[in-house]
Amino acid sequence: MQEYLAEGDRNEAGKYPERLSLAGRHHRQNHKTSILFTLTVLVTMTSEDYFHQVFRSLPRQGPGYSEATRKAWSLIPFVPPHPAILDIGCGTGTQTRDLAALTGGTITALDIYEPFLERITEWSKQERISHRIRTLQASMDDLPFDQKEFDIIWSEGAIDIMGFEMGLSLWKQYCRHGGYLVVSDMTLFDSPAPEELINFWKPYGVTVFSEEEKAKQISRAGLHLLNMFRLEEKGWLEHYYEPMQKVIEKLRKEQGENPECAGILNALEQEAVIYRKFKKFYGYAFFIMQKQ
Ligand code: SAM
Repeated sequence: MQEYLAEGDRNEAGKYPERLSLAGRHHRQNHKTSILFTLTVLVTMTSEDYFHQVFRSLPRQGPGYSEATRKAWSLIPFVPPHPAILDIGCGTGTQTRDLAALTGGTITALDIYEPFLERITEWSKQERISHRIRTLQASMDDLPFDQKEFDIIWSEGAIDIMGFEMGLSLWKQYCRHGGYLVVSDMTLFDSPAPEELINFWKPYGVTVFSEEEKAKQISRAGLHLLNMFRLEEKGWLEHYYEPMQKVIEKLRKEQGENPECAGILNALEQEAVIYRKFKKFYGYAFFIMQKQ
């Protein structure tokens, strides 16, 4: 069975994939763009402003929807009354808001990209929940926390930046024993994956493992898989690509023939085309895990 679409998570030197460094502290120009994974590219490219304009105005920066966040939360067996939660790769914080509504706890919303965090600061003040939401600009591979500081580590659509197994292995140290890691990530639902799909993702170094393979990775990371479920298509279409298309059309009108902008908008659209064509083969899944 074909388990993945691209190369493995670590390169030969044992380093994180390049997309992590793109996302984080090291800057590079003229690389290809991928929206889904990471918005990584977004933070470093010369055309950053166009990405910024697209993503900052979107309700989410990756596939997902609030019911899925709530369902994943409901699958946590025991939550203390005021849990300390870390939301890694929070974007503009749609799931952060959902989490805040589900619990009386505190949430550390962490992202590499400051303008997303500014949005969280804005809405959390407006909604009078800023005392329970702390924003923090940091890279997910270099977290500034004490061991076992959190009851729950949450991450929607961001762990692929490090690689699923590597992310879990690193992040679990910040979770207390008996605490939970809850993560959504792109997952291969049917195999073998078509060549066209493989070739689309290959240049981005994106790895898409099956649920079975991910279960093994969870176990190797020293975590116990409690539950998992697939997200519905609406998480990609209604909540992500459709709002994105509206923003793309608006920007096209505003920017006319600007080639830099057009290149980015075309790349964004192409990713949606690939999803629509191959959605039978891949999607997002939530994984609910416990640290024992
Ligand atoms: N969780 C949000 C959601 O589902 O709407 C955002 C998901 S988006 C696909 C991935 C997020 O990871 C982006 O907000 C991006 O800025 C952030 N990110 C990228 N590289 C990062 C890094 N090295 N450390 C922390 N966050 C990073």
